[in-house]
Amino acid sequence: MNARSRPARIPLPVPLTSRSRKYGDTPTTPGRSRNMQAIRRTDTKPEVQLRSALHRSGYRFRKDLSVHTSTRRVRPDIVFTARKIAVFVDGCFWHCCPEHGRQPTVNTGYWSPKLQRNVERDRLADAALHRDGWRVIRIWAHEELEDAVEKVVNALEQTSR
Ligand SMILES: [Zn+2]
Repeated sequence: MNARSRPARIPLPVPLTSRSRKYGDTPTTPGRSRNMQAIRRTDTKPEVQLRSALHRSGYRFRKDLSVHTSTRRVRPDIVFTARKIAVFVDGCFWHCCPEHGRQPTVNTGYWSPKLQRNVERDRLADAALHRDGWRVIRIWAHEELEDAVEKVVNALEQTSR
């Protein structure tokens, strides 16, 4: 009995646990934080591209300026203060883009309310800005740079006269 169970015990549990660890059962945190970094990186990139494209075209604006509306403080990504134009570049995941804003399948109890709050905050920001006479331009991170630039330039041209 002892002779039979002893050799079986040694090889079995060791490869099983090490294999399951390798495939992300235990250390979800490093894998997840790597995902989050990737998301954050792709979120900021379109915004940076849009800023430099506008700057190259000669437009001057403020970045990450807090706009104090009468009801709340809002931080658009690009602000044209004199023309009262606020531009937001919204990441597809964080702001639930209809095309790519997939609902997370892991940890839904935490993520869904968080993402929902993001969207609610966006709409409240829009409303607050509109109430104070601002024009709001929302651009999805997935939109082509050319299209994004065109949206902003159109708005600028409409307010210049
Ligand atoms: Zn998208």
